[in-house]
Amino acid sequence: MKTTKPHVALLASPGMGHVIPVLELGKRLVVYHEFQVTIFVVATDAATVESQLRNLPNPNLFNVVSLPPVDISGVVDPAASIVTKIIVMMRESLPALRSAISAMSLRPTALIVDLFGSEAMVIADELKMLKYVFIASNAWFLSATTYFPTIDKQLEEEHINQQKPLMIPGCKPVPFEDTLEAFLDPKDQVYVEYLRLGLEIPKADGVLINTWEDLETATLAAMRDTTSLGRVTKVPVYPIGPLVRQVTPPALEDSVLGWLDKQPTESVIYVSFGSGGTLSSKQMIELAWGLEQSQQRFVWVVRPPMDNDASGTFFEVGNGSDGTPNYLPDGFLTRNSEKGLVVQKWAPQAELLAHPSMGGFLSHCGWNSTMESILNGVPMIAWPLYAEQKMNATMLTEELGVAVRSKELPTTERIVEREEIETMVRRIIVDKEGHGMRSRVKKLKHSAEKATSIVGSSYDSLSKVAKDCEIGLLSHMSKALGA
Ligand code: UDP
Repeated sequence: MKTTKPHVALLASPGMGHVIPVLELGKRLVVYHEFQVTIFVVATDAATVESQLRNLPNPNLFNVVSLPPVDISGVVDPAASIVTKIIVMMRESLPALRSAISAMSLRPTALIVDLFGSEAMVIADELKMLKYVFIASNAWFLSATTYFPTIDKQLEEEHINQQKPLMIPGCKPVPFEDTLEAFLDPKDQVYVEYLRLGLEIPKADGVLINTWEDLETATLAAMRDTTSLGRVTKVPVYPIGPLVRQVTPPALEDSVLGWLDKQPTESVIYVSFGSGGTLSSKQMIELAWGLEQSQQRFVWVVRPPMDNDASGTFFEVGNGSDGTPNYLPDGFLTRNSEKGLVVQKWAPQAELLAHPSMGGFLSHCGWNSTMESILNGVPMIAWPLYAEQKMNATMLTEELGVAVRSKELPTTERIVEREEIETMVRRIIVDKEGHGMRSRVKKLKHSAEKATSIVGSSYDSLSKVAKDCEIGLLSHMSKALGA
């Protein structure tokens, strides 16, 4: 029987923070396993997606399909949370996804959806495909997501109202301060949606996670412990990470990289809040003063402040300038023209973090940013804003010892003052404490590189998934022949 390689379809939720890791997973399936891959994206500008795909080996095996835009204005409250909006967009895109997959001459053997795409697994069932969920975050987050919907009302009351930690069997407890916003209000649509997806994920044939064995050994062991009654994810888990965008030489000369070339090694702090994070106007001013007073070099990706919404620009990723950013303190750009660079909206982050001049990363702790920082051996200032970022910040500061953070968490109401920002920058770049963090993060970098090498645990995990897809394809083919 002539065998061919499987075709795998991947579905990415809106937002570059969701699209980038799915693209990276697709690339690995093409490059390491020679699979044909189709990536479906929802509400994400095709040109921005294409910009992530430069220098792709085997481009003929890689296909990106933008599903038609959906109008959710009639089905979702304009004030709904960003997660609700994303989930509803994904739901409204299901008919287009079903038609697109059904029309494919080479039917995919498997559908891999990301966190917010779990409802699409019904399409995989209908079309007799294998189905996987790809969590572009860590195993601790996955354990909270799948465990919370299974707890009884009393435990929920203890965690949410009495503010006790969420005790997850075999895993680190989630302190109330770090808990996911989705768990906080049972009357909010996001609560209902989130609970549903927490119950849906374990129905997959397996869950791929952007982490690696040595980073989260205990949590992963708890997930696989079949003797535990409270086992939190009852399907195979495959830690396949860290998958981060591989750095390619810039298409055009990049002025920021050129500036970095002239700075001393490990001297610059990079400041960015991911693809959609925004600060309040007051916080922008304090951050500007904090950077200036630290007297350290910086590259800061700015976007206009928003006073009540930390994820305010989530759907508006794009390059380009809004003119001179008039929300910064008067004279800030002139006074800091030697020491710092301000980039508007979007910077080539993976390339910047890989530069030898980078000495620290003030980050909102999105998991992609976290992985990029670790893989470049760059210690962090943790500044979580939303989603699971507070859990990530706790892991980085308390468990891994590779980040510092403010005494109190920044919120839309609570400002971190300039003096504290100045101190945090100096702790990372200048103080002895920063050297210790740098050496710990470099150890993690080596551990991550080992995991993704072709003899590593993450490579092995992805190979197991690939093998299952190959078996799935063979079984389809023999059924087709027998029919
Ligand atoms: N990113 C980038 N340039 C920017 C901001 C973000 O390249 O100016 C990339 C970043 O490298 C990362 C992703 O966008 O790969 C952001 O993902 P993350 O999980 O850190 O945060 P999110 O955007 O989902 O909040």
